[in-house]
Amino acid sequence: MEHRSSVFHTMVNKKIPTVARAQGMYLYDTDGKEYLDCAAGIAVVNIGHNVPEVIDALAEQSKAVSFVYGGTFTSEARERLAQRIIDMSPEGMSRVFFCSGGSEAIESVIKIARQYHIERGRPQKYKVISRWQSYHGNTIATLSVGGRPSWRQRYSPYLLDVPHIPACNCFRCPYHLDYPTCNIVCACELERVVKYEDPSTVSAFLLEPVIGTTSAATAPPKEYLPIIREICDRYDILLCADEVITGFGRTGLNFAVDHYGVKPDLVGIAKGMASGYMSAGGVIVHQKVVEAVENGSGELGHSFTYSGNPLMCAVSDAVLKYLVENKLVERSAKMGQYFLNKLKTLEELPWVGQARGIGLLLGVEFVADKASLAPMENKTQFASRVAKYCFENGVMITSGVPGCVDGIVGESVQIAPPFIIEEKHVDIVVETLREGITIIGKQL
Ligand code: PLP
Repeated sequence: MEHRSSVFHTMVNKKIPTVARAQGMYLYDTDGKEYLDCAAGIAVVNIGHNVPEVIDALAEQSKAVSFVYGGTFTSEARERLAQRIIDMSPEGMSRVFFCSGGSEAIESVIKIARQYHIERGRPQKYKVISRWQSYHGNTIATLSVGGRPSWRQRYSPYLLDVPHIPACNCFRCPYHLDYPTCNIVCACELERVVKYEDPSTVSAFLLEPVIGTTSAATAPPKEYLPIIREICDRYDILLCADEVITGFGRTGLNFAVDHYGVKPDLVGIAKGMASGYMSAGGVIVHQKVVEAVENGSGELGHSFTYSGNPLMCAVSDAVLKYLVENKLVERSAKMGQYFLNKLKTLEELPWVGQARGIGLLLGVEFVADKASLAPMENKTQFASRVAKYCFENGVMITSGVPGCVDGIVGESVQIAPPFIIEEKHVDIVVETLREGITIIGKQL
């Protein structure tokens, strides 16, 4: 009888390969098949697989001390990591709260924002405004602020009542306008919703500065974030950036907000922070928020068992040291440009609407009709079939969640490789994509 897995896999009826080992840009399964990892797992393994310096740091910390509760002891690794992150962060950020992943990071953002207002005597400020076409995690609160309808629907009875505004997407403008004559109405929409909600009740605005998987690497024009910052300041609302994917160099600068000269108040981080060598996450906190707590109750009323555990801190510290010493953020910018130029050649194909990206966060959106840019119907499963073709041919990319156009329709793939990627790898990915898109396009 065939052995059935005891793991409750996400795709319960599908057999997936068993990974055996990894090195640099490559993964190998137990059948000896090689995969070029152009998904970095899932936009995680930014420094590449099997870096000895990180593995040594993990071993050394394990031998010294693996676990202490963060409320009882700090550790040298934790202090060093926090300082390293602050040194990389936008001006004004002064402390880091640690946790174990992206969803915990965004839950923490919501709670820290709320505490900031309570400490300043404004307990009526509690609402978080967020955006459609965004992903902030899979817990109930983070699904509530998220804007991915297909992932929210099943749990809708539990979701919190969170106002959303449309996300900025010049390729698929939700207002059917053109940049720059649109006057960036999608940013101004925030003010309208703040007024409807009553500004005295609004605590925070949360966004992915560059959208990751929900609409495959969609970046706003330069005016968008400064307008958002101004509206937040006008109504005493904290600007919270979800940099779980984009943080630590994915877009070619340390943080995606750095492209826009905007200073956020809270920044959620995870993924690239430990590059997959450990579960890691955190919130980078602006000095004004720290001061509110210091001058108020003096107690951050929020923590997790694994907040700032020494192993996670030692590993993340080694990862970020490696990232900086090997100039991998600069490499992300340079290789991102090379990759985007190559990816743009796919726009010649009748099924490709747009190849886009910033740094090494890249995406391709498919269309049913090139002239009208009519979206690809989800029933074609175009993106997942393209990703499957690539996977079967030894190239890993990520199929975007259907709905990149309006939450319901739209097919896209995301490419987010390790920053150590070389030109020869880019060429392999683009040619494999070209083959896959052409074969599946012709089957339609
Ligand atoms: N925020 C963003 C932008 C993400 O892309 C993700 C995960 O993909 C999360 C939050 C949630 O992170 P995690 O899966 O580590 O909980």
